[in-house]
Amino acid sequence: MSISELVIGSSKPKRSAAGGRLGLIFDLMRFALHDGPGIRTTVFLKGCSLRCWWCHNPESQLTEPEIFQFDDRCTLCGDCIDVCPAGALRIENGVLATDPALCQASGECVEACAVEARKMAGRWMTVDEVLAEVSRDQILYDESGGGVTLSGGEPLMQAAFTERLLAALKRRRIHTVLETCGLANPKLLRRISPNVDLFHYDLKLMDTAKHEYYTGVKNELILANLKLLADLGRPIVVRMPIIPGINDAEDDIAAASAYLQELGVGNVDLLPYHRIGGDKYRRLHREYRLPDLVPPSAEGMERLAARLRGEGFTVRVGGIS
Ligand code: SF4
Ligand code: SF4
Repeated sequence: MSISELVIGSSKPKRSAAGGRLGLIFDLMRFALHDGPGIRTTVFLKGCSLRCWWCHNPESQLTEPEIFQFDDRCTLCGDCIDVCPAGALRIENGVLATDPALCQASGECVEACAVEARKMAGRWMTVDEVLAEVSRDQILYDESGGGVTLSGGEPLMQAAFTERLLAALKRRRIHTVLETCGLANPKLLRRISPNVDLFHYDLKLMDTAKHEYYTGVKNELILANLKLLADLGRPIVVRMPIIPGINDAEDDIAAASAYLQELGVGNVDLLPYHRIGGDKYRRLHREYRLPDLVPPSAEGMERLAARLRGEGFTVRVGGIS
């Protein structure tokens, strides 16, 4: 199944964040096995302030609902064109075309399409609605030592909602993992940290100029926040995406290793670059900046893991960066 187009959502979503009472959820994945201990449900929150060149989820970056279009399902019946209040749709050169300047991501076309060729990416949910979904598997969490992982995008982009959700999960005694890039208000991090059982903390590049070049932001606040959590004694697994030619040079690894040793953070996940996201960019008519990058070999990843183990780290290889 191909996703042929993703239409940028409008500045006028049906519902707003309502002061943190609503969160924009991109996906809810049950039975997740790689997002923390045990069997988990992963809640993907939409929006991220970084633009990493290797991001495999470009549809998770914007803080607005968006519409996916699956050309291979579309029969060109025109039903969606008839119901679109914005006049954003037309058939052009044998495919359904959307004018992103007109589309408001209101979703009538999604409702009208009998073959599910259009799909809403991002739905506004209350904390109670998320709790109702994730609580379906509470027995599995209890039996496996699992729980709920908040991922993204960047969950802390929706700070008020994430804070409410974490507190509600803890009231239900559900184990929580927060996956974060670390670009957040330190006061917020300090406040939420008692309700986070485990931080999955991204460490992409130690050199701030390179960090800014490849992600769009400098890394001083990210590194300071990692130190803050380490000083608070919070459980942390540092997740390092390994992007050949970008952050896998000896200097990059040595600097990361030295910083983590200084902080006393001993658990590291190495996440090899993969090409899963490349097609999405093309289908979204966005530029993918690493079209020819070859993923690292399994042997290369193991060499890197062995090197870090030799420096005292507990290292796992794998997962999705
Ligand atoms: S309603 Fe569905 S199948 Fe019909 S034109 Fe629109 S997207 Fe295609
Ligand atoms: S119905 Fe709404 S979501 Fe669908 S194309 Fe029109 S404005 Fe966009």
